[in-house]
Amino acid sequence: MANIVAIVGRPNVGKSTLFNRLTEQRQAIMDNQSGVTRDRHYGTAEWNDKYFTVIDTGGYVVGSEDVFEESIREQVEMAIQESTVLLFVVDTQTGITGLDEDFADVLRRSKKPVYVVANKAETAERAHASAEFYALGLGDPYAISSQTGTGTGDLLDEVVKHFQSDGVEDPDAGIPRIAILGRPNVGKSSFLNVLTGQERSIVTDIAGTTRDAINTRYKAYGKDFILTDTAGIRRKARIDSNIEFYSVLRSIKAMEDSDVCIIMLDATRGLEAQDLNIIGQAVKAKKGVVIMVNKWDAVEKDHRTADVLRKEMIQRMMPIDYVPIIFASVHEKQRIFQVMEKAMEVYENKTKKIATSKLNEAMQAEIEKFPPPSMKGKFVKIKYMVQVPTPSPTFIFFCNLPQYVQESYQRFLENRLREHFDFTGVPITVFFRQK
Ligand code: GDP
Ligand code: GDP
Repeated sequence: MANIVAIVGRPNVGKSTLFNRLTEQRQAIMDNQSGVTRDRHYGTAEWNDKYFTVIDTGGYVVGSEDVFEESIREQVEMAIQESTVLLFVVDTQTGITGLDEDFADVLRRSKKPVYVVANKAETAERAHASAEFYALGLGDPYAISSQTGTGTGDLLDEVVKHFQSDGVEDPDAGIPRIAILGRPNVGKSSFLNVLTGQERSIVTDIAGTTRDAINTRYKAYGKDFILTDTAGIRRKARIDSNIEFYSVLRSIKAMEDSDVCIIMLDATRGLEAQDLNIIGQAVKAKKGVVIMVNKWDAVEKDHRTADVLRKEMIQRMMPIDYVPIIFASVHEKQRIFQVMEKAMEVYENKTKKIATSKLNEAMQAEIEKFPPPSMKGKFVKIKYMVQVPTPSPTFIFFCNLPQYVQESYQRFLENRLREHFDFTGVPITVFFRQK
């Protein structure tokens, strides 16, 4: 289930500072490796082993200080509709302003949990002053400092209580949930039309948790799947400047609700920074990924073009080198079937369980050939390994000194796992535990 936390509030209260604090450490790992731009307003955060998506709505606000513009109002309403929990940030340095009150008016009508976050409360004096924000009529203010991190733990303890656990029963368990993602104009709607128009048979309409979650079960090309729809985004926002915001919200939600993401690119534009963002986000969320380079018909090419392009793309996506890339054309119905077939394969890879005996047989041999290098005179002995029953492939390697396993060795094991057990398109997780 998608757990989405939206940060709202007027400019300069510290929304983006809070966003960075919540997402920073996780983000840094991916960003450095794949050249993803920093200019992003959504990211993954984790608290007490619970993962969630954080959105800094401020990154999209174009309103000004003194008017609570229609644009902001619409944006806050969208954030309310799409998120699990809202963090309403206010500033203990300035106290309540008129604009805070405007936000509060909209937020009070929300049925979603709202937390008043009284920011910049580094000093006892300012923490004390946070009591003033009771007047906003949204419950107890949480005094924090986004800059130092003070108070954020107590806040997050409360926030994560609203998240749905992974153990919820799902009547459609076992049927792949597929999200089609990509920037505007790559051809998502056209692709959906082809998919759902042909041999179209809607088996059931699944009532989503929010009123416009569009999860529809289809049979096409002989495959049974649930499509999480992000098309139709454009019609939703009344105000132009909110279109990007809404499209990001919807894709995050679709991504979180899916097993496999078909990420569409436009062949005439190549792999752009925003595409890398989407791919990185899907991998971080441990989703299966298939990349569909659409509009292949519109590219001048010879027999080598696809291979050259594929290599270039993998280079730029490093270390993500395990996702299938398919060059397709929705217009010419070229390789549409292949895309769906790949998505199904990736789903199989994501859900398969490797028997412990097979796993140990294959991996012990690899470890014998190339044992963990010693570190500070310590020798790591890996005793055995298991795959744990999680939604995406996760392996625990039991050993004597887990803290001395180097990252390069972890990557080595990951690569050997991929070689032996085909995890094409699927992020895998490797842990070390003491035994
Ligand atoms: P946004 O417009 O709401 O996203 O606000 P920013 O995150 O850009 O922060 C606005 C200003 O407040 C910046 O100068 C920050 O350095 C400052 N700021 C943010 N959080 C804190 C905090 O916890 N304490 C203090 N003293 N300043 C902060
Ligand atoms: P969306 O915004 O991602 O849903 O994209 P649309 O499906 O609305 O497509 C955007 C534009 O790309 C439209 O003009 C389509 O006709 C065009 N388009 C879609 N698929 C293809 C394709 O395979 N080849 C070419 N040349 N154009 C395409």
